[in-house]
Amino acid sequence: MIENISVIGTGYLGATHAACMAELGYNVLGVDIDPEKIDSLSRGELPFHEPGLPELIRKHVDSGRLRFTTDLEEVGAWGDVHFIAVGTPQQAGGTGADMTFVNAATRSLARAISKDALIVGKSTVPVGTARRLAALVEEESAEGVRVSLAWNPEFLREGFAVEDTLRPDRLVVGTADEADEAVLRDVYSEALGRDTPWIATDFETAELVKVAANAFLATKISFINAFSEVTEAVGGNITTLADAIGHDTRIGRKFLNAGVGFGGGCLPKDIRALQTRVGELGLDHTMRFLDEMDQINLRRRDRVVNLAEQILDSDLEGKRIAVLGVTFKPLSDDVRDSPGLDVAVRLFSSGADVSVYDPEGNRNAAKRFPRLGYVDSLTEAVTDADLVVLTTEWNEFKALTPADLEPLVAQKQFIDARNVLSASQWEGSGWRFAQLGRIFTD
Ligand code: NAD
Repeated sequence: MIENISVIGTGYLGATHAACMAELGYNVLGVDIDPEKIDSLSRGELPFHEPGLPELIRKHVDSGRLRFTTDLEEVGAWGDVHFIAVGTPQQAGGTGADMTFVNAATRSLARAISKDALIVGKSTVPVGTARRLAALVEEESAEGVRVSLAWNPEFLREGFAVEDTLRPDRLVVGTADEADEAVLRDVYSEALGRDTPWIATDFETAELVKVAANAFLATKISFINAFSEVTEAVGGNITTLADAIGHDTRIGRKFLNAGVGFGGGCLPKDIRALQTRVGELGLDHTMRFLDEMDQINLRRRDRVVNLAEQILDSDLEGKRIAVLGVTFKPLSDDVRDSPGLDVAVRLFSSGADVSVYDPEGNRNAAKRFPRLGYVDSLTEAVTDADLVVLTTEWNEFKALTPADLEPLVAQKQFIDARNVLSASQWEGSGWRFAQLGRIFTD
């Protein structure tokens, strides 16, 4: 019977998974090489923003069911199942996935394990990784101990991570052995609703399901954004277009919001890693379209910067620009590859006096780009602004009206880079108002 579960890597994915496994009734030990993260989690404090997760961490740290450590040896003698949730970022100076963390964690774990156990990879990895790591585990684990490996990719969305883990819309497990699948089914039995699809498959399919899902989502976003470039040139309403095609149930409306595009710690690096991996396999032609999706996505950021230049007569020097939102999406404090932060930095580099406000993201953004001006409120950000740029669709920003900003700004100029406000309302109040996918003329 499974009682003790470890989670190696306690970032966005691992901390969520650890807390949710405790919620499902297991004793859980979270392991990370970052002692600060472990200290903070051990006090029941979450070092990042994720709705509902702080409460769950505190609940189970208090109950004693959830503990955190930097000591992998302790885990090896204790866990029945070990989830690997370490990062697979984009390689520095390359487009492939940096596998250093997954390789190191798996090797050290296999060496530390001293009782029969199952290692379960959750990180997003290039196809072929699980098979390679299964061989590594066999080589590195102690004699007389049965250690096997499975791959169970993760589909949680930041902002909804707890819900997605406790009530997943599907579970995918890649195993080399039916017994390992049975162990995982047991682990997740409490989380599996009667109709939750359970997809048991081989390693390669499991790995590919994850990157295929992300490639599809990225493609959907870039698809509508490519049409944005067309409507910007010829006229038309990109939102109406998205609504109209979205009514077709074969297409669906989700992920068809034109705007400044996708970012974060997953989609951009995952599509690049997929392309790189198929290239290594001699199949680069198969995923070449993803390069186009990436370029469309990045061009949206250029478009926002160009609009700012157009509105400010190509002279950004000393202009006060308020950037609203530097997280890659609302309900998160994650600023990895964030379109809003990228735009803010580019405006700053062109000489603008940039004032950034994000309800959760300022701290992380300041770690990456300390020279931007970060303020603690929307009011401070927009005061005396020559231009306001909305880059993340937080509710606080979606609720803005011209009357809120008019007493504060220096000039009534706005770029809604997420297409969440009503153009007619703002233009009707005398604002120069730009959105993506619309012709902008002065
Ligand atoms: P993250 O950077 O927030 O967390 C990774 C953690 O792993 C860090 O705390 C790091 O210190 C730790 N770590 C690195 N090497 C270690 C080692 N040898 N032993 C123990 N800990 C180690 O990353 P994340 O966003 O949680 O992503 C983790 C993986 O999950 C990635 O492969 C990512 O693509 C995938 N994923 C993430 C999400 C998401 O929404 N964040 C969703 C699905 C899948």
